[in-house]
Amino acid sequence: MSKATITLLGVRIDKDDLYVKINVRGCDHALPDIEAFFCPICGKPILVEKVVPREGYEHGELFGFFVVTYFSYAYVGMLINRIEYGQLTGGYQFKHLPDLDALRGRLKEVLGDKYFEVVFGFHSLDVKDT
Ligand SMILES: [Zn+2]
Repeated sequence: MSKATITLLGVRIDKDDLYVKINVRGCDHALPDIEAFFCPICGKPILVEKVVPREGYEHGELFGFFVVTYFSYAYVGMLINRIEYGQLTGGYQFKHLPDLDALRGRLKEVLGDKYFEVVFGFHSLDVKDT
C-alpha cells in the first residue's frame, strides 16, 4: 500500500455520478413474447436494476480525464502532480498552465449538468493505493 498526495486541476462531483442505473434481465431464461414482471420459469423479476459505471468511466479514468474518489466525492480533471508519502517534491517543479478554456469546455462536455464552475480549480488530496 502506498500513500501519496495528488493534485488535479478540474472539478468535484458526487461519486454516485460516476455510475448509472440500468435495467438488465433478471435471469437467462428465454421468454415467451408476453408482458410480465416475473419470469414464468424461475419466478425472478424480468428486469432488475443494476448500477454500472457511466459511459467512458474505467480504471480511474473518465474519457481520458484522471478520476480519484475521496469519501462521497469524485475529482475529475487533469493530473497535475503526485507526491509519494515520504518523498521530497524534487526541490523545484514548474508546469505551464494548460488551456483553461479548452479544459473547462471538455469537462463540461463529459460531465454535462454535473459540471459546476464554482468547484473548478486545483484539488489536492491524500490517496492510498492498495
Ligand atoms: Zn427465469
